[in-house]
Amino acid sequence: MNRSEFFLPILIFLLLFSACEQESPFPEDSLILSNVNLLTMEDEEILTGQTVVIVDGLIEWVGASDEAILPDGATVIEGDYYVMPGLAEMHGHIPGAGQGRQYAEDMLALYVAQGVTFVRSMAGNPLHLELREAAERGEIISPRIMSASPSLSGGSAPDVETARARVNEHYEAGHDLLKVATGMSLEVFNAMADEANALGIEFSGHIPFSVGLLHALEAPYGTIDHLDRYMEFLAGDPEDREDPPTIWFGYDLTPQVDEARITEAARLTVETGVGNSPTNTLLENVFNPDLSTETMRQWPGMDILPSDMVQNWSERVNEIRSVPEYDPEQARRFLEIRKQLTRALYEEGPDLLLLGADAPQIFNPPGFSVHRELEIKIDAGLTPFEALRTGTVNVGHYLGEENLTGKVLPGFSADLLLLSVNPLETLPFGHAIEGVIRQGEYLSREEIDELLEEIRHRLN
Ligand SMILES: [Zn+2]
Repeated sequence: MNRSEFFLPILIFLLLFSACEQESPFPEDSLILSNVNLLTMEDEEILTGQTVVIVDGLIEWVGASDEAILPDGATVIEGDYYVMPGLAEMHGHIPGAGQGRQYAEDMLALYVAQGVTFVRSMAGNPLHLELREAAERGEIISPRIMSASPSLSGGSAPDVETARARVNEHYEAGHDLLKVATGMSLEVFNAMADEANALGIEFSGHIPFSVGLLHALEAPYGTIDHLDRYMEFLAGDPEDREDPPTIWFGYDLTPQVDEARITEAARLTVETGVGNSPTNTLLENVFNPDLSTETMRQWPGMDILPSDMVQNWSERVNEIRSVPEYDPEQARRFLEIRKQLTRALYEEGPDLLLLGADAPQIFNPPGFSVHRELEIKIDAGLTPFEALRTGTVNVGHYLGEENLTGKVLPGFSADLLLLSVNPLETLPFGHAIEGVIRQGEYLSREEIDELLEEIRHRLN
């Protein structure tokens, strides 16, 4: 027997022994998703037989299940699940202190129940700052909160001095960005933008009539919401036009729109790096003549909300659709232009389009409406993967957190969805959420159902 003949069996024995006894590199309190189908969002591929190890709210490890050495005592979730990053509502609302903290917490829980793990609250209230911290500490069931300031408008910022003072006030209060509403004069807006830029705080939201799209892009906005003021640009900014009430968002200009300008509008936007959160579902709910209020009242989530809220929405929509200016054909055309613009914005700048529905506004229950918004993005011509990017990867880009937010990869925050369907093949998938992981905390389907039941009772 030569040396190698002697040592080989010993070597094999040692290797086998060490494989069996190899200690897991992960702590006992890890949360482990074992043998799942993974959509990392790095690309469109679904990886099968994957294990995800979560430690302290972060994804610690991702890899083939047969290579994973799991620690004893860890919580292991196994099943034929599809796992993807949690979604974001980039134009959401959280009720203020006036309606009571419980109500605000219920709305936050609704977002999570529908797989929304990040909400950019687009009209601030001091309560939101408290809730943001409570969410961060894991004390409440809530998405991660980004809190815009109370609205800066012609009312709250009537002159240059007040505008500058408000910007400082909101910045010092700790808001993450400034919410711009309507009504500011150009002079006041410029002062606001100047002060905000000096402090390095983002401003986003509506574009005042006096400002217009091109100046807003230069200002520059963080995001334009609702595709505000694009219609004016597409219609060549008619000089003698008066600004109609906000909700119309340039609907009146539909007949004058030059569609050839859509690509140009998108290109100019993308050149400045300004993002967009179109909130198309809001406009569909209001304008689309094929969506009756009876239909929308039957949508998922409506039964959980206070019935008088849903009733008010019905009345509001019927009211808007009964004014003489409302024309079903024009409304269809208007919505079509918005979809074309949405697609053009994605094509010109695939990193910059965001998922925002505007919940809980008109027939947009928190969380549920994000799935509607995804559907509309696909309707507009995005692929399911592209639509999902707007609520995951692009949120990481917007936040400057390309290595933390929006993918299922090591080092990313453990904000994840467990689905019973492939999200690239079945969209919407709100009904197929089997679990949500927020900051590493797992909520099972049963827990989500109990939570929804509790909220339904509290609100009705
Ligand atoms: Zn809003």
